Parts: sequence; C-alpha cells; structure tokens
Amino acid sequence: MMADKISRKIFLKRTGALAAVSAIGFPSILLSQSKEKLGVALVGLGSYSTGRLAPGLQMTDHCELRGIVTGSPEKIPEWQEQYNIPDSNVYNYENMHEIANNDDIDIVYIVLPTGLHAKYSIIGAEAGKHVWCEKPMAMNVEECQNIIDAVNKNNVSLAIGYRLHHEPNTQQIIQFAREQTFGAVTEVRTAAGYDGYHEDGNWRKNAELGGGALYDMGVYPINAIRYATQMEPIAVNGRQSVVRKDVYTEVDEITDFQLEFENGMVCTGETSFGKSMNYLNVNTENGWYYLKPMSSYSGVQGMVSNGTALPADPGHQQARQMDGEALAIKEGRPPIVPGSQGLNDVRIVNAIMESSRNGRTRVVL
Ligand code: NAD
Repeated sequence: MMADKISRKIFLKRTGALAAVSAIGFPSILLSQSKEKLGVALVGLGSYSTGRLAPGLQMTDHCELRGIVTGSPEKIPEWQEQYNIPDSNVYNYENMHEIANNDDIDIVYIVLPTGLHAKYSIIGAEAGKHVWCEKPMAMNVEECQNIIDAVNKNNVSLAIGYRLHHEPNTQQIIQFAREQTFGAVTEVRTAAGYDGYHEDGNWRKNAELGGGALYDMGVYPINAIRYATQMEPIAVNGRQSVVRKDVYTEVDEITDFQLEFENGMVCTGETSFGKSMNYLNVNTENGWYYLKPMSSYSGVQGMVSNGTALPADPGHQQARQMDGEALAIKEGRPPIVPGSQGLNDVRIVNAIMESSRNGRTRVVL
C-alpha cells in the first residue's frame, strides 16, 4: 500500500537509484511502475487545487500529482517541497505548451477561472496531453466546442470536473432515473448557493472571467436536473438579479430558472452568492427521493420514499473522480464525464442569461 503511494521521484530517491537511473536511463521495471499511475499537472493553484485536488491526488491509485502550471512564482517552492515536484515539471502560462516534451505528465487539469478554461484546455490538448477541465466547462457553446475539437484533433481524452457524477448517492439517483425504479420522473426542484462575499479583484465578480452565481454554482442545479431526469430540456426561462449592488456590479448574485421538457415537465433551479441552499428533490410517478446536501464535498446524503436511507459516503470525492477518470484513460474507455456534459450545461446557462436579459422570455434550446 505504502509503495503504491510513493511517486516515482520519491521511489527513486528512497532506493538511491536516482544517480544510476539518470546515467543509464530508466530500467524497464521502474518505467512500468511509473506508468501504473498517470502523471497529472494542475494548471492554476488556487483554492480548489490547494484544498481539494492536490490532497486528493495523494489518495489516488491510478494517477498522481507530478507537475504544476502557475503564474505565481511565490507558490512554486512550497508546492515543490510539499509534493516532491522536480524543477523540470514546473511551468508557467507562457511556457505551458512545452509540456508536450514531458513524458512525466499525461494529464493537464485546468483549474483556472472559467473564462480561461478554453484557452488552456486547448494548449493542453495541442501538447498531446489528456485534459481534465473544471466546471463550468467554458463561457459559451463555441468555446466548449473548440475544446472538444482540439482534444479530438489531438487524439486525447477530455473529462469535465463534475465530481458528483462519481459520488455514490448521486449515482444512485442517476440509476433510479435510468431504470425508472419509481416510475418516470415528474418534477425536480434543486438549488445550490452559498452565503458568501467576494472581495474586490475576485474573478467570481468579473463577467469576462466567468464570474456570477449562475456560472459558478448554477451549473450544479442545471446538471442535477439533467442527471436526475436523464433528459435534455427543450426550453428555459430565468431571472438574474443582484441584491448587493455595491458588491456585484457586472455579474448576477442570484438566478432562478425553469427547464422545460418535451413531455411538458417543468423543473426548477436556483442559485445564489448570498443564500445557502443545497438540495435536490425528485418526484416520480410512484414516489420521491432527495439529496440534502446534494453538492457538498462530503456528506451528500438523502432518503427515498420507500424508507431507504442514502447515507453519506466517507470517501474523498475528488480522489474518486480523478481515479475514475484516470482508470478510464488507462483502459482506453471514454471519459465518465465527457465534454458534452459541460457543453450542454453551458448552453443552458447562456439561454438562461438570454431569457433574463429579455424579461424572462421562453428561450428554445
Ligand atoms: P481561485 O480564485 O481560488 O483560484 C484561481 C486560480 O487561477 C488562482 O491561483 C489564480 O492565481 C489563477 N489565475 C490565473 N490567471 C488568472 C486571472 N487572469 N485572473 C484570476 N485568477 C487567475 O478559484 P478556485 O475556487 O480554485 O476555482 C478555479 C476553478 O475551479 C473554477 O473553474 C471553479 O469553477 C472550479 N471549482 C470547482 C469546484 C468543484 O467542486 N468541482 C470547486 C471549486 C472551484
């Protein structure tokens, strides 16, 4: 188990093999061991990379943290020290394309402000690396499609960081919808928001960088309606507003929306930077179920109308996500959360924005 958790660099150091190896090249036994885990480079070392992804990558069996891409030089020594990252695996945004020449890195994970996802996902794909891209996938459908085209052209895979698709209770909800365990879904009500405040300069307040509650948190209820119904909406309407007008001058603070389906079903979603909300309620022909919280990093749990509890899974969501996607790459399978998941949500985000601009009109998708 312990050896399993040791990166190639530490393994080489501990076995005293580093000098010998650099002189003679990698003995095949070491090479095959290193390829048991795919090397991940985190692109953007903000709070999500620091607090969740890097720690998660210490628990994974099929991938490990081997590189960083950062525009903040002051972060480099700390990350190198903490995660044993060699100088040769440290990049900035100007030289990130050179990762193409680095066999240590198999996957680039884009964890930047949303407005930068497309640019750096495409640089990663053009460098011949598999791409993991955080939610929301990009600013608009065209950017999402450009990412998909770039990965297809370069024959690499693309997964979106929707960690909940890897969460066991969420997977149960998806299975209920697929198998119509309690009959067809008749209604979904869902919300994700936090009671927060963003300082000046925070990209979550900046429209160009993809700020606003809808992009940031609204993709959780949008994606939840899609996975809980296993259907795509045909039309939307929504309203975006701001209460703290001195804080949010160019993005929404609150958005509520309705997604309409071909069979006439209407599902509702809500998101906010000023109100804590976190639930997924599903009604079906013969029952109901819910998750509350539905989008937290841990503790996602719920109940089914037949009395079955959906207890919280103790695992680390992001480790589970990254291992699942890494194993899919190793086994040559399609990603668990493909680019289409991200693109379909972004199309809905943009349609809700259009609806709100036009006085909550119905926008056909
Ligand atoms: P953050 O503000 O903490 O970090 C953003 C990072 O991007 C910083 O290190 C910053 O230096 C860097 N950056 C590079 N260029 C920048 C620029 N021009 N302007 C601003 N910052 C720039 O943000 P975060 O919370 O780590 O979010 C990063 C991404 O991860 C977002 O897409 C977000 O939606 C996503 N995220 C996903 C989850 C999840 O549960 N899946 C959770 C949190 C964040």
